[in-house]
Amino acid sequence: MTQPSFATHEVTNQSPPFEDVDLFAVDKPLADAVAANGGASAAKELSEFGQHWGSAAMAARGRLANENTPRLRIFDSRGNRRDEVEFHPAYHELMARSAHAGIHNSTWTAEGKPAGGAAEVVRAAKFYMAAQVETGHLCPITMTRASVAALAAQPDLLAKTMPVIGTRAYDPSFAPWWTKRGMALGMGMTEKQGGTDVRSNTTRAIRDGEAYRITGHKWFMSAPMCDAFLVLAQADEGLTCFFMPRFAPDGSVNAIYFQRLKDKLGNRSNASSEVEFVNAYAVRVGDEGKGIRTIIQMVQLTRQDCAIASAGLMRSGLAHALHHARHRSVFQKRLADQPLMQAVLADMALHVEASIALVMRLCRAFDRAGDDAGQAAYMRLLTPAIKYWVCKSAPGFLYEAMECLGGNGYVEEGILARHFRESPVNAIWEGSGNVMCLDVLRALSREADAAGMVLQTLSKETQGLPGAGEAVTFTAKAFRRLDSERVARLAVEKLALLAATAALNQVSPRHAELFAATRLAANHASMYGAVDLANDEIRGLLERALS
Ligand SMILES: Cc1cc2nc3c(=O)[nH]c(=O)nc-3n(C[C@H](O)[C@H](O)[C@H](O)COP(=O)(O)OP(=O)(O)OC[C@H]3O[C@@H](n4cnc5c(N)ncnc54)[C@H](O)[C@@H]3O)c2cc1C
Repeated sequence: MTQPSFATHEVTNQSPPFEDVDLFAVDKPLADAVAANGGASAAKELSEFGQHWGSAAMAARGRLANENTPRLRIFDSRGNRRDEVEFHPAYHELMARSAHAGIHNSTWTAEGKPAGGAAEVVRAAKFYMAAQVETGHLCPITMTRASVAALAAQPDLLAKTMPVIGTRAYDPSFAPWWTKRGMALGMGMTEKQGGTDVRSNTTRAIRDGEAYRITGHKWFMSAPMCDAFLVLAQADEGLTCFFMPRFAPDGSVNAIYFQRLKDKLGNRSNASSEVEFVNAYAVRVGDEGKGIRTIIQMVQLTRQDCAIASAGLMRSGLAHALHHARHRSVFQKRLADQPLMQAVLADMALHVEASIALVMRLCRAFDRAGDDAGQAAYMRLLTPAIKYWVCKSAPGFLYEAMECLGGNGYVEEGILARHFRESPVNAIWEGSGNVMCLDVLRALSREADAAGMVLQTLSKETQGLPGAGEAVTFTAKAFRRLDSERVARLAVEKLALLAATAALNQVSPRHAELFAATRLAANHASMYGAVDLANDEIRGLLERALS
């Protein structure tokens, strides 16, 4: 469309929108990380996905879904209880597109077993690209995918639900799950008196024949229009995991009463509820008293997705910053040609390059954990470390990306303000920062031999790289210390940096060396761009970052 022109005012020197791009084709570090971890043959599928999600139409849906936030309808006009949440059509469209691409189920077979091959890696690449456009709707997508791991503890229930979870249809109708074309699942663990400490849950489950009746509350329960929730409640034998559907088996609406929706900093397209259960119908998942052991299978996967999504948010920040810098001139010279801006962008590109290599390496471990003890140990030890490092680095990164766009970066019409507001949540939910560090310590103490094996492998994979030997020694020593909790953040960050260096070495050895030189051999300064990279290194990083 040609814009009207005004004699006094012509818009010049603004970057065009970063839209209608193939998010896969422009992202060489992503393509290389996917290939290095077994997903090369999916390049065409990923490019189709990248084109679709990089379109202006999808960007508009992302904006609309966040500007028109979900609304809780507790009652209808006649005073009947409804307990429904209404979403903008753009949100439903995003859900349908993600479901259509199998982001909610493609890592499982029709029977709910791990799909194997490179299913995790390929799905992660899609998740990473979708997160660059809209992250709120990915909450129910990720929980649905992850729920299968917990449902595995109850094979009869898994067999019943898999035919509905396993379709690529998105069915937003408010109806019993067994009548639907597709379904979504959420989870309810956090209560007012404790989120990390779920053992303090007060919600009670009373046996009712083969089923249970649950009474209590959840202080955070996201995506309330899911068709069922995996909730924790105290049964006779202790904390237990339950499958709580929105409809009871007789077709009546289950006694799940939403109190209100959270008014959140970001993640606004997604609804997060406070909820009360009053004798709500539920069935057990796994044994009584084994609730944490059951639901942790799900949480392991949502933690993996937190890291992928945060890497995706940072990638989007980098791409928008670089795109803008290539079009915007300051003092007769493009920003992208100004040495100081180049230093900032190249350092950011190095961070994203390492982050995507690391999350893809983690996904390979998930793909292979079933028949490879080394990969299983990697997955167990490094999932919390990677969630910690990648997710916690996102807010600072996005702040810097916004600044590359100057004032435009700070304005809500652009996507970076939204990404910035979204960025802290992945570190907070599914186990906050300290909790991730404690989880690494737990893995070390319970599976010391396996953890030792992982550290040895990382040591081999980073041999000769600047600062790697010292990082291995430091990490091993810190983890052996009796007071390691006090130094856990130091050690976990070092472990994650070491793993990132190793992962990047499989993708791009030259960049692994730069990463190690700036992050292992030296402590990275608190600001991006406060590094001394040679001009040809800067050029190489920036060309790869956005083709
Ligand atoms: C937008 C949003 C959506 C959410 N959706 C859901 C949902 O769908 N379902 C659900 O169940 N929950 C959900 N949550 C809740 C979330 O998982 C919890 O907020 C989180 O687990 C932290 O629990 P808490 O808020 O009770 O904080 P606390 O457990 O009180 O933790 C507070 C702080 O203390 C730290 N800490 C805890 N223990 C230790 C320790 N031993 N040593 C040192 N530091 C420690 C933590 O790292 C954290 O920084 C959601 C949260 C948000 C923000």
